[in-house]
Amino acid sequence: MTRGIITLLGLAVALAAMLVFPVEARPPGWSAGTAGRPLSTCIRRAAPGDDARAIARDLTGFDCTTPQQQFGSGNFWVISEPVGERSRSRRPLNARMLSLWQGQVTLHVLYTDGRIETMSDDAVGLTKRIQLGAIVEYTIPRLRAPVDRLLWKVEGSSNLYAVVRNPRVATDAESNRANLFMTALYSAFGGLCIALLTYNLALWTTLRYRFQLAYAAMVTALMAYAFTSSGALAWAMPDISNIVRLRLNYMLLMLTAASAIWFARTFFEEHVFGPRMRMLIRISIGTLIAAGIGFALFAPLAPNLAHTMYNWVFVSMLLPIVAIVVSAWRHRSNFLWLFGIAWAAPIASGSLRVLSSLGLLPWSFWLDNSTLLAMAAEALLSSIAITYRIRLLSRERDAALAAETVARRLADLDPLTGLLNRRAFLGHAIGRSGPQTLLILDLDRFKQVNDTIGHDGGDEVLRTVARTLRTLAPETGLIARIGGEEFALLCHADQPVDPDTLLARLRATRMPYDLRVTASIGSAHGPIANEREWKALYRAADQALFDAKSAGRDRAKTALAA
Ligand code: GH3
Ligand code: MG
Ligand code: MG
Repeated sequence: MTRGIITLLGLAVALAAMLVFPVEARPPGWSAGTAGRPLSTCIRRAAPGDDARAIARDLTGFDCTTPQQQFGSGNFWVISEPVGERSRSRRPLNARMLSLWQGQVTLHVLYTDGRIETMSDDAVGLTKRIQLGAIVEYTIPRLRAPVDRLLWKVEGSSNLYAVVRNPRVATDAESNRANLFMTALYSAFGGLCIALLTYNLALWTTLRYRFQLAYAAMVTALMAYAFTSSGALAWAMPDISNIVRLRLNYMLLMLTAASAIWFARTFFEEHVFGPRMRMLIRISIGTLIAAGIGFALFAPLAPNLAHTMYNWVFVSMLLPIVAIVVSAWRHRSNFLWLFGIAWAAPIASGSLRVLSSLGLLPWSFWLDNSTLLAMAAEALLSSIAITYRIRLLSRERDAALAAETVARRLADLDPLTGLLNRRAFLGHAIGRSGPQTLLILDLDRFKQVNDTIGHDGGDEVLRTVARTLRTLAPETGLIARIGGEEFALLCHADQPVDPDTLLARLRATRMPYDLRVTASIGSAHGPIANEREWKALYRAADQALFDAKSAGRDRAKTALAA
């Protein structure tokens, strides 16, 4: 188990390192997700009557230092640093940027010879340009002159992170490589999700633990989230507005969060949750779902307000998570350490993203995709956690089964002598195959024994008789105490116990207070394959016992074959 823990910790640390390490410091292959050369930009607000040609000619009024975010929402011009490259047929260039909440985007490609090529899209048009990784891509028209700068006019920018985010120029080859890389990344992620989903649902059909359903819901929501955020949705539905895609994306992230809390609720032992905690969790899940659906429905009415509310609801999710973790710790949950390791990655990713949005960490491809990576790690580690949980539960179940077996065995035994009781004896005896020999042994004048040496002494005599019976009975024989001082011994007819030998052994056995104790035995042979045969055999043996008693006791009688 410790080796397992170390492996898991290693994984978590590796993932965290991947997220923290700035992408530029990695070898080129690593940055395949971010194709091409990054462009720095300057920004200014758009005014009515602005004209692209005039703006391209005179760049005064552009701000190159203030972060775009600080301009708030609205309409903007964004201009890039000089590009200075030609788009040729052998080496076509693309302009790329991250997809954002934008109503209308017009890209003017400014060429050094003064020509301008313009491409304008509303939110539906933007969807058609989306590449995997939710990147909006433009093919730069191939003209004779090199590209001077790129000039965007963005209308209806919510400007939550930027007006134009992470703009780059990339060759076709670089774009293709980025798409291929993202395909591999998302395929791996999708495959992982499908596998986790399948095995959890399959396990659920037999184990029926509620947390397996919560987990399946979480993985499903996560997959749908990845589908909308990757841009795969844009490929599948090119006529959908990019803003609708983003609204779905936001909603699915909330549903993922809600199912994650539901998972935590069902994953820990029930005693971790008090009534107030259950209420908090219910409210939190309800709020997350309402906020997700509310955002999807109403965000266009007031995008910035919607985003602010959304973010606060998202942050509020920490409340139940922290409460659950603290309570699990206080109640010494068996599963806390696993939960902690599994959720370390999403929590680390969340923190890093907060740092990044505060401008304390540079943008990086891995950070941008960290939700996905962290949740993939979480889903993977949670599946190990689930396995561990199932192992604990099955261990509990095995222990319960063993205890039940012991209890059942005890219920079969006579507590005084440890021999079978009458009920168990009948259960085991009736149906035995082949001819059987039944001996019924009754102690002689046992009332007197009790009177002489007391009830406890009488009990000791019964135990001594039981021991004697055990030493004589063959391994396949059944020995039972079927009445107060009445015993039965059942053997297969080919390995019978001779009644006279048994009586002799009893006589020779030393009894408490050196009391002389004798017994009478009635025996009979016959089959006992069913209830009727058993009754006949028993009656015969009982009659023989009665005969033995009548004949003066301390002797054995055998019933004549029926
Ligand atoms: P016999 O069989 O020879 O005709 O005489 P008996 O005195 O053995 O016969 P009876 O069936 O009348 O008495 C059986 C006695 O066994 C009565 C009861 O006090 C005693 N007895 C029954 N169960 C127990 C027990 O668990 N412990 C003790 N010490 N005595 C028991
Ligand atoms: Mg008796
Ligand atoms: Mg009796």
